[in-house]
Formats: sequence, C-alpha cells, structure tokens
Amino acid sequence: MSYQINETHDPNLRSWVESANDPNTDFPIQNLPYGIFKRSDSEEDFRIGVAIGDQILDLEKCDKANLLPGVAGSAVRLNFPGNINRLMWLGQHAWATLRQRLSWLLREDRADIQLNKKLVRKILLPAAEAEVAVPANIGDYTDFYASVYHATNIGKMFRPDNPLMPNYKWVPIGYHGRASSIVVSGTPVRRPIGQTKDDNAEAPTFGPSKVLDYELEVGFFVGGGNDQGKPIKITEAEDHIFGLCLVNDWSARDIQRWEYQPLGPFLSKSFATTISPWIVTMEALAPFRAPAFKRPAGDPEPLPYLDSPENRERGGFDINLEVLISTEQMREKGIAPHRLSRSNTQDLYWTFAQMLTHHTSNGCNLRPGDLMASGTVSGATKDSRGCLIELTERGAEPINLPTGEVRRFLQDGDEGILRGYCEREGFRRIGFGECRGVVLPVSV
Ligand code: CA
Repeated sequence: MSYQINETHDPNLRSWVESANDPNTDFPIQNLPYGIFKRSDSEEDFRIGVAIGDQILDLEKCDKANLLPGVAGSAVRLNFPGNINRLMWLGQHAWATLRQRLSWLLREDRADIQLNKKLVRKILLPAAEAEVAVPANIGDYTDFYASVYHATNIGKMFRPDNPLMPNYKWVPIGYHGRASSIVVSGTPVRRPIGQTKDDNAEAPTFGPSKVLDYELEVGFFVGGGNDQGKPIKITEAEDHIFGLCLVNDWSARDIQRWEYQPLGPFLSKSFATTISPWIVTMEALAPFRAPAFKRPAGDPEPLPYLDSPENRERGGFDINLEVLISTEQMREKGIAPHRLSRSNTQDLYWTFAQMLTHHTSNGCNLRPGDLMASGTVSGATKDSRGCLIELTERGAEPINLPTGEVRRFLQDGDEGILRGYCEREGFRRIGFGECRGVVLPVSV
C-alpha cells in the first residue's frame, strides 16, 4: 500500500521554527526526515532527531517532555542509542502516527510551545551545532544497476557492439556491497590502493588508484523485513520501505576494470560509500510519485512477479538530482561548487519496489536497516550522466573547471557533493540535504 496525500502535505502549513518556512530549505514542515545526531564535541549518545529548517528536533527530549503520547512516543523510546532500526521495524502504522504527531507539534499555531522558550531550547538544537552519523545499523547493503542509460553508456565502453547484456531488461541487476564502510556525509574518503593492470602491461601492479570516480545514486532503507524463504510480493513491496537517502558509491575504475570479471565489483567499491544523514520517508514523498519507466516499444514487459498496476502507475519517483565538485583550489579562492550533471530518478528502468521484490524472490531475507541503492542515476542526455567515467568518456573529454583546472577523474582534495530535491505544482518543495565527501591522499 502506498501513502495517500493528507494534511501533513498541505503546502500552506507553516512551522513555528522560522527557518522551516524559508522557501529554499530542504526541510520544511512537510518533509520531517529522520536521522541521528548529538551535540558536536560532546560525550552524548547519538539519538533520534528530525531535521526542521536549520534546526534538529530532539525526539528523545520531546518524549521526556510528554509531547509524544501513545504510539508516537513508544516509536521513539523503543530505539537503542545510535540508530533508528527499531523505528524502521515498527512499520507503517507507527511511522504514519509519529509523522502526524510531529507535524502537529511543529505547526505555527502551537503558540503554547512557541512561547515556552525554555522548552524550545530543550527540544531544538541548531544543525550547525550538531554532529550526525549513519542513521541505521546497516546489516546488509545491496547496490543495483537500474539506469538503462548508465548501463548502456558503461557497456559501450567495454562492448561497443553489444552494450547491454541480454539479461538487463528482464532482471534488476545488483551486487552485494559492503555495509561496514558506509559513512555519513562529511566524512573524508581515502583514495584506495589496489591491483590494476594497463592494457599493454604484462602484469598488474599494486598502488594508489589513478581513476577514482563518484556515482550519483539514491538509496532506500528497508523497514519491516521478511522471514527467510518468504518472498515479498510486488504489491506489498512498499510496505517494507522506510525511506530514501542520497548515496555516493565511490568507485576506483582502474581496480574495477581489472577485477570485475567474472564475479562483479569487489575492492573497487568496498573502500567507502557515503550517504546523506536524513532519511526522507515514503509518506513525505507521496506527492512526488511518478509512473514506472516507460519501456520503449520492443522491450519486454516485466515478468508477472515484477509487475502490478500500482507499480506501473506510481512505482517511480520524481526526484531531481545533481552532482557538484569543489576542488581545493576552488575552496581557497572562494569559488562556489561547480555543477557537473543533473538527472532524475524517473530515468530508472526498475522501480524500488521491483528491486526489493526481486531481491527477496529467491527467499532471501531482508532486515530493518538494510540499505539498497539504485545504481548510478544517468539520463538520456550527456549533461545527465551520473559519474565521471560517463561524463568524460573515460577521460577522453575532460571537464574544465572555473579555476582553469581540468578533471578527467577525482584528484586528492576534490569534494564530491550530491543534492536531491522534489518539486511539484501545488506542493511544498522538499529536499534530501547533501551527501558530501573530500578525497584524501593515500595514507603513507
Ligand atoms: Ca553503483
């Protein structure tokens, strides 16, 4: 069952948190994304919070102040410090109840809270004074390959005559990623060392990757899981999705090229994956749903287990994505980050529901807090390619930056910045915040 539009999506709702009413904020009262946070440089435990404007609402303190009665309060109390897996486990009824309560709590007409300055100081922390962390205890991480444009562009580089593998339009392709190296936005990422082999070389060498790339992706967190041996039907898939975040699947192309056959990516990807700290819930995204990808004439229809009328009509999402770069020189000179590309999740050939259903179709069990990512979100046009290997045609067409610097791939000191937001006539714009990471040189 997917969410209906309700009073929490009302574009006229305003919050007593003034910054949430700024038309440019990613976090208006209509969004209410979850994460974990603590006061910077403190010994506090990370605890559950909601991003609202430039503030974080402390749900534990709200509960202690008796502002979250019933199910809403227990959804908060059940969580262990350091992650929100229990909230993910509780399921749609609890998620919807908590959202409704938080929306009401933050409304402008709650003068009782607004005027109680002591209470406000207790339950709000400026985001600038907070440290965030990976919000869930991520047991397993799977990365899909759902953009047919990305798969075709990459395939062309290796197999010009036959870019798409024959299974692509039948099977949502994915690989099992590494959960232990997932980091939150803002964490520096060290350039990996690995085995690479030049085409003309006799033997591989071992050293720093020279071809480091980012991948612009959207991820979803699994809410309620499934028992082993009990696949999740496509009609129930979305009941098992808690919410979405941005994902940067850092990729060392030279390591990948040498290792990827026959079993797919391994050490070229597992050194780091960066995610945005705030999970935008499925309910917050209800106004921004879209039909599943329109398959061109001649493409096969999905097999019945991956098909449903609801998935066809509104299995997709209209999320605008962009990726920017900021080099060390740009930061020194005070030059704003430079946008490299823009794309949209409507370009994904497979929906998240199809990915989740396919993942469990063999009986594989998913657990609350598992992360699944879309794969690089690239569109049909050149300016919508979601990674550097596609944008620069494997380095043949370098990118000129405003400083006069040139990039084929990422250099040490470069920061990759992903952003995402949803806009639709008649609704309030909501965003995902940022997913950033600076590349550090290899450790010596
Ligand atoms: Ca990827």
